[in-house]
Amino acid sequence: MSSVISSNNPDAVEQAVNVLNSGGLVGLPTETVYGLAARADLDGAVSKIFEAKGRPTGHPLILHISDISDLHRYAVTIPTAAIHLAEHCWPGPLTLLLHKSSDVSRLVTGGRETVAIRIPANDCARQIIRQCGHAVAAPSANVFGHVSPTTAKHVHDDLGENVDLIVDDGNCSIGVESTIIDFTTARPQLLRPGGFPVEDLESIIGTQILMPTGESRASGMLSSHYAPKCKVVLVDSVAEAASVLAEYRDSRVLDHWDNPPLYAASLYTQMRLADDEGLSAIIAVLPPKSGLGMAIRDRLTKASFL
Ligand code: AMP
Ligand code: MG
Repeated sequence: MSSVISSNNPDAVEQAVNVLNSGGLVGLPTETVYGLAARADLDGAVSKIFEAKGRPTGHPLILHISDISDLHRYAVTIPTAAIHLAEHCWPGPLTLLLHKSSDVSRLVTGGRETVAIRIPANDCARQIIRQCGHAVAAPSANVFGHVSPTTAKHVHDDLGENVDLIVDDGNCSIGVESTIIDFTTARPQLLRPGGFPVEDLESIIGTQILMPTGESRASGMLSSHYAPKCKVVLVDSVAEAASVLAEYRDSRVLDHWDNPPLYAASLYTQMRLADDEGLSAIIAVLPPKSGLGMAIRDRLTKASFL
């Protein structure tokens, strides 16, 4: 059994840093989802992330840093617009894809010359990373392909003894993964919609961000991902949800379509709850496409693939 420590415990940061510095794995709270963290400069520790999740090693990990000054330690030739976004949006649910420095291991980047970096908006997580003295690599702390965790219990349910310590900071406030923007191409491109609305990013940098095209380089963009065991049925309105509800035994409607922040924050908990209760289906009313709605629709669509 992995141990769990509350983020309110005065020993939480020190214990987490000790685990990371001795090559172990920590369940790390962030504002998006819980991460499975290892010190990014310890290849042995990073390998454990792939083993624990059952994640193929070609799928790169996001580097989590605590201070914007560390950006230049792990990335090179950073475009001005990327720095501008980092200054405006960090700490927060935005990941920048940049050219990696020689300090970043190819195990973290899945063999690529690019690296994904962000600063999480969780005080405890940033303290842990800062005291560690090195960036941590942290994908979502779930079994590969499963629903991401938004509570410490979700991490424990998925990974059990494969994680050495889980820092419990309650529910994740945003509840969906970060928005990933690729700044290694001629024009910035969206790799994954997430907690930071693309429209807001565009107005900060004053240029259009291209929608993902061609073969995607982000594993979160696989057609099936974030999936519960039960069927996820997508509908466009509450009225349509009511009419299809009767077709499924033991089913429930997700209808926070008019409140995207609440929809995002409760989405993964609702999916896990549906499986715990043995429901046959959840009927999800799609929110509008704009703002946070883009990420919610993306996750629901991926969860709906069989
Ligand atoms: P997760 O850790 O589960 O939120 O997933 C991390 C996401 O970041 C995945 O979709 C990765 O494919 C993506 N990512 C991380 N590093 C890179 C990279 N160097 N190039 C492209 N995508 C990346
Ligand atoms: Mg993930």
